[in-house]
Amino acid sequence: MAEFLISGGTSYVPEDGNTGAQMFASGEGLTYQDFIILPGFIDFTAEEVDLTSALTKKISLKAPLVSSPMDTVTESEMAIAMALCGGIGIIHHNCSPEVQATELMKVKKYKHGFIRDPVCLTPNHRVVDVFEVKKKHGFGGIPITEDGKMGSRLLGIVTSRDIDFLEPNSDKLLSEIMTPFDDLVTAPAGVSLDKANEILQRSKKGKLPITNDNGELVALIARTDLKKSRNFPNASYDANNQLLVGAAIGTRESDKHRLDLLVNAGADVVVLDSSQGNSIYQINLIRYIKNTYPELQIIGGNVVTAAQAKNLIDAGVDGLRVGMGSGSICITQEVMAVGRPQATAVYKVAEYARRFGVPVMADGGISSVGHIIKALALGASTVMMGSMLAGTSEAPGEYFFSNGVRLKKYRGMGSLEAMERKDTQGSAADRYYHGGPPSRISCACKKATGSTNPAMVAHSPNCIMYLGGEGDGIKVAQGVSGSIVDKGSILRFLPYLICGIQHGCQDIGSKSCSMLRSMMYAGELKFEKRTISAQREGNVHSLYSHEKRLF
Ligand code: IMP
Repeated sequence: MAEFLISGGTSYVPEDGNTGAQMFASGEGLTYQDFIILPGFIDFTAEEVDLTSALTKKISLKAPLVSSPMDTVTESEMAIAMALCGGIGIIHHNCSPEVQATELMKVKKYKHGFIRDPVCLTPNHRVVDVFEVKKKHGFGGIPITEDGKMGSRLLGIVTSRDIDFLEPNSDKLLSEIMTPFDDLVTAPAGVSLDKANEILQRSKKGKLPITNDNGELVALIARTDLKKSRNFPNASYDANNQLLVGAAIGTRESDKHRLDLLVNAGADVVVLDSSQGNSIYQINLIRYIKNTYPELQIIGGNVVTAAQAKNLIDAGVDGLRVGMGSGSICITQEVMAVGRPQATAVYKVAEYARRFGVPVMADGGISSVGHIIKALALGASTVMMGSMLAGTSEAPGEYFFSNGVRLKKYRGMGSLEAMERKDTQGSAADRYYHGGPPSRISCACKKATGSTNPAMVAHSPNCIMYLGGEGDGIKVAQGVSGSIVDKGSILRFLPYLICGIQHGCQDIGSKSCSMLRSMMYAGELKFEKRTISAQREGNVHSLYSHEKRLF
């Protein structure tokens, strides 16, 4: 076709690439790897790209990033770091309701710069214990309290200077070497961070314990943290200026008790954690929550089809979690023969849910910044990540070395290892046994409650069912357990992801996440499927060796 020149430009541009609707019309299931987005026009800087996006109908985030409710990904430390960087963390429920609520409360009570749960020792501990703590946690300033815990009377402090010239295996009592309370500079509870900073500067000390009127330790401030501490202008806050945080729950009757504790602890959003969310158990629970806690935001799921989404939207969810079988640790598709390639799942559900104003979270299968951009371009408002975040210092668990590589454990919540974790009330297994425990329950608790419905039974802590022990039926694993390479701190990793997404949006010609979605639905955003060789070409190739450093 001819091109018509007008004042040095062309008025005709041939059709190129496919719209989202065209790309997904064929009925093939596509993954993020299977397609690419065509570049657009840039007339703004990457920093100008606004990543504000909806997590639920009522909650929006400055960064569309969510950490997964997995026991090797999100507890309070991760949730705090995620929220500081503009995202949100969802606390896992593979633990007792009380432990989960405590983790959530730590996020709500977090005040930037204040260490709320420092490791403490008693005067009867020994120098060797300080070296142990230092080895494990990498710091040397340890408050000495009456019972070795936070909240008890502060008796002194042991810092690196007190142990510098002592043997690591010394059994000297800490009472002999600690700086006693009377010689300490402390600050009163309620002190502002600025004031505390000033006191630290003046005292030239490394640590500033914060005590209440009874002399009990309530927090600690570290000079090194203050030096590192910076502003987090995009942090996710609620109306009371506390960090936003979510929590996962199952769909058993007993989860209503867990829900009460989480709401009391200040949860902003609950995620109904089920690998196949389109169930009567989930629908009933959504209705129950909407009646009992109308203000609480609910993310339902997981779903991968519009038909599944419809039922949860009708029941009243405020957000949908999309993905089945795409997670890095997941064997659902292999074992259960159900699921959907993630790009198709995100597009199909988002395209349906937007009609009802329900935001979609793309969950699983994200292994690069490019995947995040693709998920957002297909209609997701946020992405949920497991493996991307599991190797960071804020993820639960200790680092270990294998063949000289620093690693952390990462496991699927449907792995046998996670499902067999004791003292959890079987909550990880719930995700994969929809609605409640297997019906072959026979225990005294069932008789005691008089219930014929196994899902109604609240097992006592001594019960074999509570402990997830024998008699629990055969478990079919839907996940694996593995390890993941050290990624450093979330506080460095998330800014890298955010900056990467902004650059991707700039290349596409989209100034914001919402513009990205509207460009896609307007058919302005163009996609192209990639052959296997196109995918190979799009990766590093033809080199003898290379080092991949990302940030
Ligand atoms: P990733 O980001 O690719 O590692 O995937 C994380 C997601 O996988 C989670 O948010 C869950 O939706 C899902 N997931 C977690 N554990 C399992 C499992 O054991 N089997 C299948 N999917 C899982």
